[in-house]
Amino acid sequence: MNATQIAELRERLIKERERIVAEWENHGGDGGPIDDWNGRDVEERAVQIASEVVERRIALDDSNLLRKVDFALKRIAEGTYEQCENCGATIPLGRLMAKPSVSLCLACQEAKDAGRL
Ligand SMILES: [Zn+2]
Repeated sequence: MNATQIAELRERLIKERERIVAEWENHGGDGGPIDDWNGRDVEERAVQIASEVVERRIALDDSNLLRKVDFALKRIAEGTYEQCENCGATIPLGRLMAKPSVSLCLACQEAKDAGRL
């Protein structure tokens, strides 16, 4: 991987980070009380709770992604970006281009997805 490719991936990670943070702000992200029930009917309340649960779920996924993105940026800064976090093998450029936030080689990712890591 050359410096231009690293710079491009770094740029994409930074944009991804900005997107996640902006989305958080759109979600209202103030973690406001779920309890603003004042006399609306039960069905409406249930719908509201369900949508809040979904939003919190999205926020949780985003926070996991944000951690991955930050980790990838740290790995770029340390010069270990191309190394698999688990086995130290070189992560193929195509894999990083497809998903710049990955930190595992394909074999380790598959092991992890299968619960073996
Ligand atoms: Zn690996």
